[in-house]
Amino acid sequence: MSATFRRREPDAAVHGRETRRPVAGNARCLRSRPMSDTSPPAANGSDPVSATPVGGGNSFLLTGMTVLPCEGERTFHEVGSVLVVAGVIAAVGSVDEVSHHPAAGSVTTVDRSGHVVLPGLHNAHVHSGLLRGTAESMALWEWLENHVDPAHRALTPEIAEAASWMAYTEGLLGGTTSVLDMWRFMEGSARAAEALGIRATLAPYTADRYDHFESLETNRRLLETHRSIDGGRIQTWVGLEHIFYCSPQMFRDAAALAEEFDTGIHTHSSESIWEVQECQRQYGRRPIEVFYERGILDGPSIIAHGVWLDDREVSICAETSTAITHCPCSNMKLASGPARIGHYRDAGLTVGLGTDGEKENNNLDMFEEMKFASLLHKVSTLDPTVGDPWDILDMATLAGARALGIDDVTGSIEVGKEADLVAVDLRALHFVPVLSGDDFNVPAHLVFTASARDVTDVWVRGRHLVSNGEVATVDVTEVARRAQEAAEELFERRRALDGPTASPASELGAPEHSA
Ligand SMILES: [Zn+2]
Repeated sequence: MSATFRRREPDAAVHGRETRRPVAGNARCLRSRPMSDTSPPAANGSDPVSATPVGGGNSFLLTGMTVLPCEGERTFHEVGSVLVVAGVIAAVGSVDEVSHHPAAGSVTTVDRSGHVVLPGLHNAHVHSGLLRGTAESMALWEWLENHVDPAHRALTPEIAEAASWMAYTEGLLGGTTSVLDMWRFMEGSARAAEALGIRATLAPYTADRYDHFESLETNRRLLETHRSIDGGRIQTWVGLEHIFYCSPQMFRDAAALAEEFDTGIHTHSSESIWEVQECQRQYGRRPIEVFYERGILDGPSIIAHGVWLDDREVSICAETSTAITHCPCSNMKLASGPARIGHYRDAGLTVGLGTDGEKENNNLDMFEEMKFASLLHKVSTLDPTVGDPWDILDMATLAGARALGIDDVTGSIEVGKEADLVAVDLRALHFVPVLSGDDFNVPAHLVFTASARDVTDVWVRGRHLVSNGEVATVDVTEVARRAQEAAEELFERRRALDGPTASPASELGAPEHSA
């Protein structure tokens, strides 16, 4: 089925304003252009078209826009350039600085005046899925038992693959260049990522207490075929559902599997208070202490949510370099609670950002996630000075890449890294005013004002995957049509299931009306 999603090679109509004008000619003009000169886009929403091929073989000079390198410092270039050679960042800086690079004059120039360019965003916890808008206003464990787990029982490889095509396409359109996806039948997910050009870390939903999930055996098979493909753009980790879905032995086997394949482990934990209390009742320890004892924190590991970590658990995560993916929209929607992300970061933890799935968010918009991360931090601490836009941007970019173990190749705009870039058009009415100098306000615009729909361009490894808001590699209409069909089939299959679905909620007595 994947072949039908493929789109013809992009035509000139989506290429935007690429030109081959000399850089020096542009530079004079761009340097004199004040940030407040925010001329609106053309009335039809598209810019003048050039027939110049996009990227010129993954080598191009992106110029004329504000650049936020997000390399861990609060640096920016108000009117800057990024030079990409063979998909790798060769120079970043002011227009003048970059124009002196020997390669600057020999590559295609891509003018993005009026935009800001930032590193590609890392959605460090997502689930492909098709339940958007169908299971609202209920507590986590009841929701899992009555909606999510029955959908797992009804899932087929074909339906699962259509969900990944949709999730990754939606993410890419909104500036997400890398996903950590916990899902099922993930050979189809790999096909979607391969065709789209997005980075993907695949972590199957495994469990052994219920038979409607993946197993460590299917996870092993995925590792054998997809441990690292296309030079690491797509990689496979070991996945584990929540603690109550998996036996103690399964954790130990998962740790051994991850060690055997030299890969990471991804699981959910400490999402709800009840989960922590029940864990203490069953095992006499809090979840992270249990994980530590069972060995799953020995190698690279990412815990999704981590809302209710106490100080001892934070210390364990710091000691074992265990990363946390903060999912503020999901945590608010399911009333799970506010993670102490300021405390976690101060303690040295790597804290990435994730949307969680379409069913608990209900979109995969990392810009919206950044806003909610900041707002939840502020309201939960009653401190308006926290949730600084630079800190939040760090979580969505470099920290996310660090959590995924790929910060040596992506996560920031630095020389030598692969060119995973996102351009946001700042010329829209809702960004006015765009200010420079002491009043520089672009980081705040990205976190509090921007949405996925403001993204115009996305590059991964220098490949121009989204241009003028259109995906170059797949037919989005076809992706949506297939996902709609797959969802209808999934709901039909779920309605036809025999009997209730076994889950921890009823077996362990999870509360019905609270997290
Ligand atoms: Zn999740």
